Amino acid sequence: MMDCKKTKYATEKDAKADIDRFRATSTRSTIPIRSYHCGDCGAWHVTSKTPLLVQNLNSALKKITELEAEIENLKSKTGLKERIAVKIDERVAGLQKRDKKQQELIKKLRNDYNTILGKMFALEKQKT
Ligand SMILES: [Zn+2]
Repeated sequence: MMDCKKTKYATEKDAKADIDRFRATSTRSTIPIRSYHCGDCGAWHVTSKTPLLVQNLNSALKKITELEAEIENLKSKTGLKERIAVKIDERVAGLQKRDKKQQELIKKLRNDYNTILGKMFALEKQKT
């Protein structure tokens, strides 16, 4: 059996009673929160460390919170992309509409030009 430097308690009840005493009287920032049976010395000790399972759970919860924040961030970015895409579509539709109007105007101007040209030729013929 190893000789631990930590305070030894004969029973779990003794260890827990000391934790209660710490809780009631200690002003230290870290106080024991649980007792455990020591495999090295066979006695009971108290510790301020949370069990590994709880530590893992806490880090997993932290990771989940971080991932949730990341997802929210990505969602807002996706939303922005969609809004930009809609804006671009509207702009393209507007330009296409304008282009169609310009094409119609060009067509009309060509017709007018041909009409005027035709009339000019007719006038030239009348002169001769
Ligand atoms: Zn021990």
